[in-house]
Amino acid sequence: MEKAKIAVVGAGPAGIAVGVEARAQGISPVVIFEKAETFCDTIQRLYRPGKRVDAVFRKMRVEPLGLCSFETESKEEFLKRMEKYIQDYALDIRYKTEINGLEKTDGTYRLRAGSEWVLEAPIVVIAIGIFGKPRKPDYPIPKEVRDRVFFEAPCECPRGGKVLVVGGGDTAAETACFLCEGCEEVYLSYRRPKFFRINPVNLQNLGKKAEEGRVKLMLNTDIDHLEAAPEGVKVVFKDGREMVFDRIYYCLGGSTPAGFLRSIGVEFEDSRPKIDKYYETNLPGVFLAGDIALEKGSIMAAFNTAHIVVKRILEKYGDLVR
Ligand SMILES: Cc1cc2nc3c(=O)[nH]c(=O)nc-3n(C[C@H](O)[C@H](O)[C@H](O)COP(=O)(O)OP(=O)(O)OC[C@H]3O[C@@H](n4cnc5c(N)ncnc54)[C@H](O)[C@@H]3O)c2cc1C
Repeated sequence: MEKAKIAVVGAGPAGIAVGVEARAQGISPVVIFEKAETFCDTIQRLYRPGKRVDAVFRKMRVEPLGLCSFETESKEEFLKRMEKYIQDYALDIRYKTEINGLEKTDGTYRLRAGSEWVLEAPIVVIAIGIFGKPRKPDYPIPKEVRDRVFFEAPCECPRGGKVLVVGGGDTAAETACFLCEGCEEVYLSYRRPKFFRINPVNLQNLGKKAEEGRVKLMLNTDIDHLEAAPEGVKVVFKDGREMVFDRIYYCLGGSTPAGFLRSIGVEFEDSRPKIDKYYETNLPGVFLAGDIALEKGSIMAAFNTAHIVVKRILEKYGDLVR
């Protein structure tokens, strides 16, 4: 079976940064597996064209620790930056390869894609992010309205209609502003009395749209359940109010892929993967990087986890990767 010093699962910002940091330290071979056809799939798929990629995200300024860093720029500029890292550090990314199993044999890990064991490595870094599984509300979505309910922000603005965005973060704010470009009526429902997670630029844009009456803010509103209605989706709020919308966009973030992590033997504590301060799991030599390792993720934070992980690999497992 093919052998590498480090196997990385996921070619998002974290996985690419692990590759950059490892290659800069002269570690080779490092193989990165990516289930999509291209790198940074979360960004390519979920960020709409021209989206601003904020270096300060969720109000967190994160100073760079390692080689990867960026200042606020557009989605397209950011992706070019990542492509340049891949080229400059000659990263070996195996696309369209979803890793679905990991097993330890004779002091090394074997990684499985589909039904095949594809690689052996003593060190594995899992950087699969949290956006493969968008967070969904607790109440069921009636099957009659499933084609009107979305769990990802739209990349193209639909024309016309009365739409509801649900959420209180940057993605919800950006989505509501973006939908104003084509929809007749845009509502934003958030269960808290005020926004506290949105960055100043998005807050200002949202405030302006609200003042112009283009986004109707519904703070302190909590949805009880959805019902099918002849003319769309009926939203029943906990205070008894009912409204009908053509489409609903939930922007509630992602969730840890706990099933995958548990299946490979990663232990959990208080519903979070158990990791030490260097992001190493209970499986010696298996690290987490990026969103999956963090309570509050961002691209800069993902870059930094990669730096910390590679530094630790060299300190603790230098003899295995040199
Ligand atoms: C709409 C939206 C807007 C955002 N805006 C910003 C912003 O402006 N600024 C900011 O800092 N952050 C922003 N974020 C958050 C940011 O995108 C994440 O923090 C960042 O992408 C985390 O990087 P990551 O590498 O940990 O995970 P991801 O970027 O999610 O990458 C994970 C990669 O792993 C791959 N993968 C998953 N499972 C497997 C598997 N089993 N085998 C192989 N490959 C696999 C995926 O295809 C993906 O390419 C935003 C997020 C969203 C959804």
